[in-house]
Amino acid sequence: MPPSAKPSSHVFSTLPDQLSLYVHIPFCTTCCSYCAFYSEPEESWLEHRQPYMDRLMHELEEIVLRHDRPFSSIFIGGGNPGCLTYQQLDGMLALAQSHGKSEECTIEMNPETFDTSLFPLFASKKVTRLSMGIQSMDDTVLATLGRNARRHDNLKGISLAKEVHDLYGTDLSFDLMVCLPGQTLAMAKADIDEIVCLADPSHISLYCLTVEEGTALSDKVSKGLLPVLDEDGQEAFLWGVWDHLKSLGFSHYEVSNFCKGSKYCKHNRTYWNLESYLGLGSSAVSAIRGGQTLCHYSQEEDLATYAQGKDFSGYVAETLTEKEHLEEYCMMALRTDVGIDKIVFEKRFSLSFDETFGSVVESLQDDWYAKSPQRFVLTEIGYMVLDEIVLRFALALG
Ligand code: SF4
Repeated sequence: MPPSAKPSSHVFSTLPDQLSLYVHIPFCTTCCSYCAFYSEPEESWLEHRQPYMDRLMHELEEIVLRHDRPFSSIFIGGGNPGCLTYQQLDGMLALAQSHGKSEECTIEMNPETFDTSLFPLFASKKVTRLSMGIQSMDDTVLATLGRNARRHDNLKGISLAKEVHDLYGTDLSFDLMVCLPGQTLAMAKADIDEIVCLADPSHISLYCLTVEEGTALSDKVSKGLLPVLDEDGQEAFLWGVWDHLKSLGFSHYEVSNFCKGSKYCKHNRTYWNLESYLGLGSSAVSAIRGGQTLCHYSQEEDLATYAQGKDFSGYVAETLTEKEHLEEYCMMALRTDVGIDKIVFEKRFSLSFDETFGSVVESLQDDWYAKSPQRFVLTEIGYMVLDEIVLRFALALG
């Protein structure tokens, strides 16, 4: 049952009926060398874990009071939510689903912290989808990435995930990385084959390494200590793994995501369609739509500040200009196999797609997009030059 306290927050003043929920758990055991997400190693968060969760639960409680219907989808991400106890996760998920189960509830989990103590989350259907970060099955590559897990941890995690799927029907997704130092195309394909053989997942996210400034990896790359592929090398590598996944029956429904049948991630579709989602926790971002406007909220990247701060403090609101809204819409929609639906676009922005972007479309190579009067959708060749295409769309807006 929903709690009965009176709501008092002043942020997130409008909550639309269709609303997804994201909760950020910025706790990791150790930090990976390539990571640009906000997370802290264990020694930095241990003393803050309970206060962090206390504030999170207060905020969630108030949101649940004001939003008296199930969230469209829920995503508990990080960091590694596996750094929380079963009781903490169960309490949070029960509160988030006070008004009924969400159609999809995903939890991210690192293999080394996943164990049977968390199985009741899946048995009770509080979680319907498990997303596990594997990245590579090779110990040398994992060490280069500064991963906490090694091959034996990954094998154990995959086996437990399969057990959860077989026992409770939980949908499985695994994250893999490609174009990594020391990784060949044959190794990347073997990683995919091994995971498919062991767990038969319905979803795989496949990320190409990006060397983010300020990370330990970027330091080594800039000193010439780690070789990384150039653009042509990355493109050849990506074609190899994309074709391999398709040969195994996965459809390429977003630049970095593949699924079988209709098992795409509903929560992430909310982001790509620029629908409303509420993000709670340090570094979490929200996007709330109201008519033709879109408001972003962002919370500072500092878990201690969040843990010690007053409820709903620190969320900075920014209403996007129409041009920013349009740019973001195109940037997100072009990532997917749905692309831009011209009627939806016209309803949302009161603009004709063909009049607004006709000259951009004419400037593109024919094989970068699929021809259709109703939609504008990129091909996989288009995905390879996505940044260039997004830039041309942005320039067309002046
Ligand atoms: S486990 Fe994930 S969030 Fe944590 S440091 Fe590694 S990549 Fe970043």
